[in-house]
Amino acid sequence: MNTNKLPYLKEFPNSQGYFGKFGGSFVPEEIAKQMQEINEAYNLIAQNSDFIAELRKIRKHFQGRPTPIYFAHNLTQKYKGAGIYLKREDLNHTGAHKLNHCMGEGLLAKFMGKKKLIAETGAGQHGVALATAAAYFGLECEIHMGEVDIAKEHPNVVRMKLLGAKVIPVSFGAKTLKEAVDSAFEAYLKDPINSMYAIGSVVGPHPFPKMVRDFQAIVGIESHEQFLEMTGELPDIVCACVGGGSNAMGIFSGFIDDCVKLVGVEPLGRGSKLGEHAASLTYGSEGIIHGFNSIMLKDSKGEPASVHSVASGLDYPSVGPEHAFLHSISRTDVTTISDKEAIRAFFELSRIEGIIPAIESSHALAYALKIAPDLKGKKILVNLSGRGDKDIDFVVENYGYGE
Ligand SMILES: *Cc1c(COP(=O)(O)O)cnc(C)c1O
Repeated sequence: MNTNKLPYLKEFPNSQGYFGKFGGSFVPEEIAKQMQEINEAYNLIAQNSDFIAELRKIRKHFQGRPTPIYFAHNLTQKYKGAGIYLKREDLNHTGAHKLNHCMGEGLLAKFMGKKKLIAETGAGQHGVALATAAAYFGLECEIHMGEVDIAKEHPNVVRMKLLGAKVIPVSFGAKTLKEAVDSAFEAYLKDPINSMYAIGSVVGPHPFPKMVRDFQAIVGIESHEQFLEMTGELPDIVCACVGGGSNAMGIFSGFIDDCVKLVGVEPLGRGSKLGEHAASLTYGSEGIIHGFNSIMLKDSKGEPASVHSVASGLDYPSVGPEHAFLHSISRTDVTTISDKEAIRAFFELSRIEGIIPAIESSHALAYALKIAPDLKGKKILVNLSGRGDKDIDFVVENYGYGE
């Protein structure tokens, strides 16, 4: 490695939140001021040893970190090729990687003297993780959720309420994620002094893509060390599913300065026609959405297109700006996996290894299973971003118990 160069994570983004031409902050003035304050507070505590110690303690004793890496010996034997390893983010408290950044955001809100955390949620995963953080830190929590999603995701609505969050039904427009974002932003603007908008992925205006990545980087830092200890070398390929891109940026962060191939797996849904998938990097073009410049899927009017994936956590018409950048400089590869392939991997991991994965994570696994047979002697590390408990009713209703 070139020793004159800053490590990647220190070099990107720049002070304005740019990863190359992607990122930045495209928001009204009143929000820009808040983002500036959040950025300053974050830069302050990120260097502070008390904050770092507190976050370490939370990760170890509340979240259950470090999560293990597991060698999927049955799958590896069956597919007769590359060794398949899983980073077990499904074992995180609340069942997914999202708590990694929600606890960080909660701690930051507490430090800034905020009283309330506000966010939107689609399927309810981010809402549950944030409500958990709010309960831990003694903060109020307000989660905006479309009425369509409330009807669909009943167990997560119950979880959020049990955790003490207020669930605000959003009843305009399509009554799903996009409207929930609008509604949450409106609520935030009413009281930006006492509340903090907590974004659920590496998206949104600066500093969120950087901050969420930094909080998620623990996944990659642990993985680097664990993989070396386990096998004596680094993996050849690291892959992760990409919705907004937080779990992928988390694990990629641990290997970005190494000679390791990094692959983001996007949801191909029902096919490559616009509206049938949510593969933003694969099929999208440059554009501004939700306060940042990135690659997005647009309709004929240039508005965010409607998207589909069987995994509701991957159902987003854009992607974090850092992914757009890393793909544009060819540091990462991007590929797609269909609904059908993801569901097949879901059944496979459940039955063969005894681990029921989230349908989101099943996309990354499906990619590993696809390439493993031709890569004998290599090692693939899959970020298993979450567990599938939330998905079992949906899967069984729509696909039975597999073949
Ligand atoms: C939300 C979610 C995702 C997608 O979000 P990213 O920001 O792309 O990581 C992936 N897996 C699980 C289990 C999720 O809950």
